Amino acid sequence: MRKKIVAANWKMNLTLGEGEALIGGILEAGLRLAEDRQVILCPPFPYLVKAKSLTRNYPHFFIGAQNCAAEAAGAYTGEVSAAMLQSVHTDYVILGHSERRAYFGETGPLLKKKIAQVLAHGMKPIFCCGEPLDIREKDTQNDYVQAQLAESLLDLSAEEISQVVIAYEPIWAIGTGRSASPAQAQEMHAFIRSALAGRYGNEAALHQTILYGGSCKPENAADLFGCPDVDGALVGGASLQADSFIGIVNHL
Ligand code: PEP
Repeated sequence: MRKKIVAANWKMNLTLGEGEALIGGILEAGLRLAEDRQVILCPPFPYLVKAKSLTRNYPHFFIGAQNCAAEAAGAYTGEVSAAMLQSVHTDYVILGHSERRAYFGETGPLLKKKIAQVLAHGMKPIFCCGEPLDIREKDTQNDYVQAQLAESLLDLSAEEISQVVIAYEPIWAIGTGRSASPAQAQEMHAFIRSALAGRYGNEAALHQTILYGGSCKPENAADLFGCPDVDGALVGGASLQADSFIGIVNHL
C-alpha cells in the first residue's frame, strides 16, 4: 500500500548547530516506525550533507531539499540544480510551496520543469498545492487545486506520477495556527485522489501518498491522520522543536 510520511519543512530557520541539535533530539527519541512509514527532513541547502550523514543509519529517515532549479546547469547565479542535490544523496525535493509561488513568482509551467529535473535525477518531488482563503470562502477550492494539478503534474506518465508525493496545503492554514478540519482535509484529499484516478486509474490513485500541510501539531495530528485519504503531513512550525515533531510522528 501507499507510504505514510511526516516531512519537516524547516524553511529558512535554524543555524547548522541548531539543526544538528534538532536532528539529534529526534533520533534520540528512538521512534519505532512500521515498515511503510517515513520521516523526511528538509533543511536549508547548506545542511543537506550533514543531515544525510546524521541519519544514515536510520532506515526510516530521508532527506529533502526545499527547492531546486528549473534548468540543468549553467549561468544561473544562486541556483541549486537537481544534479547537485542528487550528488549529495537528496531523496526528496519540495516543489511548489505556496511561499515559493507567492514570494518568488513560481508558476505551474515553471514547476513542471522543476519536477522534470527532479525526476530525471532519480529523486522524488513533494508537490505542494492548495487554495488561498478567498477561494475557500467562495467554495471553489476543488477547481483551484484541479487547475494546479493539471498545470504541473497531470502530463506525467504513470511511472513518473508514482514517484511524486502530493502535499495539500491550504494557504489559510499555513503558519496561522488554524488547521483545516479533518473533514475539510479528507474532502480535498479524496478529491485529489479521484482526479488522479480519472487520469491514471484507481490502482495508481490508491498508491499515491497525499500529505496534509497547514498548522499540523501533536494535538491535531491523530484526527488528521485518522482520515482515510490523509497519508501524513508536511510540517512547518512544529518541525522546529524535537518534542512537537516527535509528537506528530508518533501519530503516524
Ligand atoms: C508549510 O509551510 O509547509 C507548513 C505546513 O507550515 P506550518 O506547519 O507552520 O503551517
